[in-house]
Amino acid sequence: MNSPASALPAAPVTTASTPAVPVTIARGDGIGPEIMDAVLRILAEAGARLAPEDVQVGEKAYLAGRTSGIGEEAWASLRRTRVALKAPITTPTGTGYKSLNVTLRKTLGLYASVRPCASYAPFVPSLFTGLDVVIIRENEEDTYAGIEHRQTDEVYQCLKLITRPGCERICRYAFDHARRHGRRKVTCMVKDNIMKLTDGLFRKVFLETAAHYPEIQTEAMIIDIGTALLATDPLRFDVVVAPNLYGDIISDVAAQCAGSIGLAGSANIGEHCALFEAVHGSAPDIAGRGIANPSGLLEAACLMLVHIGQADVANRIRNAWLRTLEDGFATADIFRDAARQKKVGTAQFAEAVISRLGQEPRHLPRDAAPAPAAVPAAAATPPVSPTPKTLPEKILEGVDVFLHWSPARRDAAKLAERVQAALPAPLKLKMIANRGVLVWPEGRPEAFCTDHWRCRIIATGENPMRPRHIAEALLALEAHHLDVVKTENLYRFNGQPGYSLGQGE
Ligand code: NAD
Repeated sequence: MNSPASALPAAPVTTASTPAVPVTIARGDGIGPEIMDAVLRILAEAGARLAPEDVQVGEKAYLAGRTSGIGEEAWASLRRTRVALKAPITTPTGTGYKSLNVTLRKTLGLYASVRPCASYAPFVPSLFTGLDVVIIRENEEDTYAGIEHRQTDEVYQCLKLITRPGCERICRYAFDHARRHGRRKVTCMVKDNIMKLTDGLFRKVFLETAAHYPEIQTEAMIIDIGTALLATDPLRFDVVVAPNLYGDIISDVAAQCAGSIGLAGSANIGEHCALFEAVHGSAPDIAGRGIANPSGLLEAACLMLVHIGQADVANRIRNAWLRTLEDGFATADIFRDAARQKKVGTAQFAEAVISRLGQEPRHLPRDAAPAPAAVPAAAATPPVSPTPKTLPEKILEGVDVFLHWSPARRDAAKLAERVQAALPAPLKLKMIANRGVLVWPEGRPEAFCTDHWRCRIIATGENPMRPRHIAEALLALEAHHLDVVKTENLYRFNGQPGYSLGQGE
């Protein structure tokens, strides 16, 4: 929020003659309609030029039989406007309902989740005065692709998908965001000491991208120490970029360190659409009482204004909002100190912001309008997925066949005997692993074995492995009553193994 204005191009000025931008508005459930009313009032009074299109998503859509919580009219509006401000919705409990948020992100290709987290101490209690960090989370891939399978009696799997174009887009977005907002450093958090291929790719692409932004400091760290540092020393961070799951976790850590998750807004950005929302949920426990804090949704609305080129209006609103906090106005969730604060409801809080439009904070750093998102990034910005000049040489080396095998005594040597007896020439069993631990040919008797065995099969001698060998292996295993639950081909790309060697190998 507190981007230094120096060296940034000036934002355009929004006036009554600025064309109104069509925006899809979803009032949501629970406290959603109350906080949306308050936010729309502030936007209008601040001079935002919007042409709102109201749509219904969430509980009512679910109860009307739309399993994703959204109907065709709402999709049509989103396709038309390409920009949405969404209040939180209530996801019905029980099976058969899909998460509206995940549906929107995936369908609209909203690949970047941007969550600025700033502290407003002493006006909102926080352990960290001056905290000001932006978490940029990849929003579509990783374990959130939703590809899960039960494979045996004991083993369930969730696929973690990390793609090069996905890494390129999010890393480039993070550096462009830093450049546009005058931020000095981008930190990447991954777990590539363990997930060498997937998280390793994320770090590799991050470092490749960093080379195009020489004015920005970069660092990469392992997610565990990164999260610990974010929770204890958050001022050392500026912009943090991470794959989906880690980004989900650290964005809550950062928001909570800032003071309250109730103040945080987020932007979900795609190539064609963008969706802005508060971080919190629909708070059914306080719905209809007029006491909810509209600040999270207001912050989301300010991010939206920056996105549509009305950064000057966002700037006016944020400065008035900061002054409102300084003047002691507080909704119940951030009310702590009766001597310094005045407890108000949602509408009164909005009125306090409106009456301060044009004013600036006296203690907290004033907000400077960032350059509008529409400003093209510098020419050095790398393209996403440049077409490689030559495709890598890809050679099939073997196949990992996963078996469901659960005798009373789980003896890997016994299984190896059966697999070897089944395999036709030129195939041979190279190793067996269980939960990533080598159990044959060497293995340790102490290793705990589940009913899910990874048998690595290769071709012997001079015979190159062919796809048909995989089919032959599967037929042979089936004929020997071995239960194949999945296969993974083993390739070398330009001589480098495209598979994990696994623990103990
Ligand atoms: P929640 O964020 O709604 O509420 C957690 C606590 O924070 C509650 O005590 C609530 O009163 C308080 N709170 C939240 N926002 C507040 C605000 N603006 N002002 C004052 N207090 C506020 O989380 P929950 O209770 O776990 O979820 C409630 C519903 O919201 C669930 O159906 C959940 O699925 C949904 N949800 C929706 C979204 C979204 O639409 N983006 C996000 C999270 C949760």
